[in-house]
Amino acid sequence: MSHLTLEQELKTAGTYGHFIDGDFPIPRGETAHVTLNPANGTPLAHFAEATSAEVDDAVNAARHAFLTVWGRMTGRERYEHMRRLAVELERRTERLAWLETLDVGKPIGVSRATMRDLPYTVDYYASVLHGLTGETLQVGEHDVLNFTLREPLGVCALIVPWNYPLTLALLKIAPAIAAGNTVVLKPSEVTPLSALELARAVADAGIPAGVINVVFGGGATGNALIHHPGIDKISFTGGTETGKRIYAAAAAGLKRVTLELGGKSPLVVFDDADLPRAIEVAKIDSIRNSGQVCAACTRLIVHEAVADAFVDGLTQALAGVRIGEPGNDETEMGPVINAAQLKRISSYREVGHEEGAHFTECQNIDTRADLKNGYYTAPALFLQASNEMRVSREEIFGPVQTVLRFRTEEEGLRLANDSPYGLAACVFTRDSARAIRTARTIQAGTVCINYGVKAVVEAPFGGYKQSGIGKERGLQAMLDDTQLKSVRLYHGRT
Ligand code: NAD
Repeated sequence: MSHLTLEQELKTAGTYGHFIDGDFPIPRGETAHVTLNPANGTPLAHFAEATSAEVDDAVNAARHAFLTVWGRMTGRERYEHMRRLAVELERRTERLAWLETLDVGKPIGVSRATMRDLPYTVDYYASVLHGLTGETLQVGEHDVLNFTLREPLGVCALIVPWNYPLTLALLKIAPAIAAGNTVVLKPSEVTPLSALELARAVADAGIPAGVINVVFGGGATGNALIHHPGIDKISFTGGTETGKRIYAAAAAGLKRVTLELGGKSPLVVFDDADLPRAIEVAKIDSIRNSGQVCAACTRLIVHEAVADAFVDGLTQALAGVRIGEPGNDETEMGPVINAAQLKRISSYREVGHEEGAHFTECQNIDTRADLKNGYYTAPALFLQASNEMRVSREEIFGPVQTVLRFRTEEEGLRLANDSPYGLAACVFTRDSARAIRTARTIQAGTVCINYGVKAVVEAPFGGYKQSGIGKERGLQAMLDDTQLKSVRLYHGRT
């Protein structure tokens, strides 16, 4: 597939509209968003902002499908539909990879690997839905059979950000529909391309109309969706401040909620660590998706005995990273998402400087003519920093990490936990007793020992503290999309 042909197709398509009740009706709103290619700032495609009437249509279609079709199916029927969706996604791997490379600026090699993984998310939940079972309970009455039924919630509103558009959408859609719910997805207005292709895959897979709906638009569309009385659950991934607004809206309507929010994850390196391995993990967390990863380890908490060697090794590793055009197979790090994000990342240079931290850029890209039209930034470190500084506490969401030093285990773990966030953490030590103590002490939803943070579909993932509520991935994500009913059956003589 040529990305030039794909770009031409997107540019000449007019304004894309929503996927409602199995169809792509002509959009009725007057506002549209333009999505830009972060590698060169040029427009890629136009997407309509959903009106409140269109949000209404999508929620009503989902409700109808829930009541009449999807909520009544057997597990096996849902399984078979989901298998077909996985096959449709697999068939589109190459196209989806290019769409996310164009839209998000991810290196094409990374996009291909990500897209190859996605059908498994659908397959996984298609398989584990068979484990949705109730229990028979021992109760204190004769002649009463008391058992539980695990039931779907109804209609789920799924709101996702721009950094992993399709991955995060499917991590919400698959468990929700596996459990028998129907959904309305709202992708980010910044990266809608792969969600449009997903809608086509849903239609081609023959998923019944209304089970999966997609409405495009920004905060206004999201806001209309979360306040809609026909929504039973809101599952949101995005920034912590938006998450708080969503939590408040959910409270007003007593809606269930899953929130996957921001992070400032620690990577704790003890003096007995495998240093080259720790350096490699820190490097990957700096450059992966240009540092725009919620769980990335951006606070590097290093024992003072190895701190100089660690910083030297990491600086060298980051200096060698191949920054470039995302469509190039050799590229390791592309641009950040847009001009606003680039400005935000750059602004922290000044913030750190005023606080007394030393800013070290690991490459000079100012002279790179090939990068001048895109939103590129070089990997950087803040040295001589303290954990009280804003550069240690706030999510920068770019290839920028802060290095902090410690002397004792207690101090290292205190620094790791001294954060408003608690999404993930990494620890490097060869001492297995310390590894276990650390895993227990660190307040984070995922702790990785001698390994980088990797969220897999089979294991629950979700934040402690201000990083979120509830879990995504694993069986738990599907259970969070259900409710439990107790049935009490009297079978004595009447
Ligand atoms: P964002 O909060 O600005 O937007 C996320 C989504 O919410 C978008 O679709 C947006 O249109 C929508 N939205 C905005 N205002 C809304 C409102 N008032 N009501 C309803 N919807 C609204 O986040 P972003 O900038 O797109 O993404 C970056 C953030 O996402 C980072 O903070 C990152 O840490 C977080 N994130 C978290 C995880 C996780 O698993 N914990 C994963 C990826 C990203």
